[in-house]
Amino acid sequence: MSSPPPPPPPPPDRTIVCVDCGGTAHLLTTWPSDDPPRPGDVLVYRCSDCLDRWDVVMPDGGEDATGWAD
Ligand SMILES: [Zn+2]
Repeated sequence: MSSPPPPPPPPPDRTIVCVDCGGTAHLLTTWPSDDPPRPGDVLVYRCSDCLDRWDVVMPDGGEDATGWAD
């Protein structure tokens, strides 16, 4: 009996809405396709309107995540 490996986490949003001005902030950070970001990694966005930088920590999205060990 074999169980398939868990699906990879969804890729991060390429853009987010800037909280300050409502403009579009674009993802600056990139990763190789075979090494996607993991929960806890920091995603860096920069707003194209006000040029504010936004650091977003990749959420731990797995339902069966075993975080909080230790
Ligand atoms: Zn902005």
